[in-house]
Amino acid sequence: MEWTEPGVFEVAPGVHRIPLPLPNDGLHTVNVYALDDGDGLVLIDSGWALEAGETALETALGALGHGFEDVRRFLVTHVHRDHYTMAVALRRRFGTKIALGAGEQPSLDRIVGRRRDGFRDLATWGAPHLADRWRAVVESVGEAELRDYEEPDEWLHESDLALEKRVLRVLPTPGHTRGHVVFLDVESSLLFSGDHVLPHITPSIGFEPARPALPLGDYLDSLRLVRDYPDLRLLPAHGPVTESSHARVDELLAHHEDRLTATLDAVRAGTGTAFETARKLGWTRRHRTFAELDLFNQVLATGETAAHLDVLVHRGLLTSEVDDGAVRYSVS
Ligand SMILES: [Zn+2]
Repeated sequence: MEWTEPGVFEVAPGVHRIPLPLPNDGLHTVNVYALDDGDGLVLIDSGWALEAGETALETALGALGHGFEDVRRFLVTHVHRDHYTMAVALRRRFGTKIALGAGEQPSLDRIVGRRRDGFRDLATWGAPHLADRWRAVVESVGEAELRDYEEPDEWLHESDLALEKRVLRVLPTPGHTRGHVVFLDVESSLLFSGDHVLPHITPSIGFEPARPALPLGDYLDSLRLVRDYPDLRLLPAHGPVTESSHARVDELLAHHEDRLTATLDAVRAGTGTAFETARKLGWTRRHRTFAELDLFNQVLATGETAAHLDVLVHRGLLTSEVDDGAVRYSVS
């Protein structure tokens, strides 16, 4: 694991960004934000339950004059393991309370109940061979994942959350996952955006155990929802702090309109399933071909394409029908 970003960075009065290492090759770091709150701390996101991350977090809290026992509460933006599982691990030792968006309940139920059947979607998307390979991966991580996950203490709904020193607006922003929430501190002009708005990458859409019907439609609505608030300093879960939530939301909305156009053009050129369409599109900022992606990213890319196709159906530009277990799209 190569990681070069240890430290504690004050990003606003009483708010510190703590980057923690991740084992993936794509995302190097997840940011935990430590908020001064009375004589303790509230943490937004927790990191992935890994020894290297725990050591880095303990060192960072130590630099702030605190230990794990001073963390009063974890406010977690979504159920993905790089955000949620360290909170569960620390709760077992310190009893720290964990809050998670109420919309994550169906996905957490599936994880805890060992009903990880997301690979079935791949057959619907026209990629049964990917489904077989992906099932093996899901089953191999299944037991470890089960150990890392437990229910939160509190399910978050849209509300104003009064901490000792500040009020955080809890805003459900479904899309990246169905129960994703962001936290706004409007008085201090801060948006703790989780993975909803990231400065350098476009978050994956609907990669979760209980995928909703129209994850990209939800995501675009959630981007517009955040755009309706004042322009705020962006404190993302991956990447650096940047100055304008509006500027990045506008870029993300434009990006997805471009992708929708490219997706529609691919169907016009004769593709039928999400898998066939994904193979015609460029991927990542470097425009790699689908074949160049590893299995995990092929699965993401296929699901991403299905999300775009379903929005095009919702907009009346495509129609869909099920043919031999797979959804096939055609121009209306
Ligand atoms: Zn993440």
